[in-house]
Amino acid sequence: MTGIPDGVWIAGADMTALNGAARAALPHEACALLLGMRETAGVRITDVALSPNVTNGDPARSFEIDPSLHVRLQKAARTGGPALVGVWHSHPTGPARPSPDDRSRSVMGGWVWLITAIPAGDTGTDLETGAFWAMEEAPRDLRRLVLKVSA
Ligand SMILES: [Zn+2]
Repeated sequence: MTGIPDGVWIAGADMTALNGAARAALPHEACALLLGMRETAGVRITDVALSPNVTNGDPARSFEIDPSLHVRLQKAARTGGPALVGVWHSHPTGPARPSPDDRSRSVMGGWVWLITAIPAGDTGTDLETGAFWAMEEAPRDLRRLVLKVSA
């Protein structure tokens, strides 16, 4: 199914897991692959696969998913496992939207990008997460989507 989805759905437990990973990785960026399915109206995330941040750059400002995890999940998807639908990472100091680097790297057209921001002086309340769609056609951009967290 193609076209820009209306929104992204994620279970509260998965969002809680991502928030926990974002805080645990501080001061570095955390990252994960998102598993689920494309539905008529949007993308449903059914599982998250946390990854070590294997960036060669500064892990406080960049991230890289473990390629072996990526390959393993791609193989699993081909043999009946859940599809890879996107990628998540945290911004330990930045806002919950793509950085210029994120935009230049968003080559995985047709993927959901979730970005969780940790505010300065985090008090343990819910973190802000932005959802974006990596456009499949030019201009290759990350376009904001509605994110719905279900109970
Ligand atoms: Zn980023």
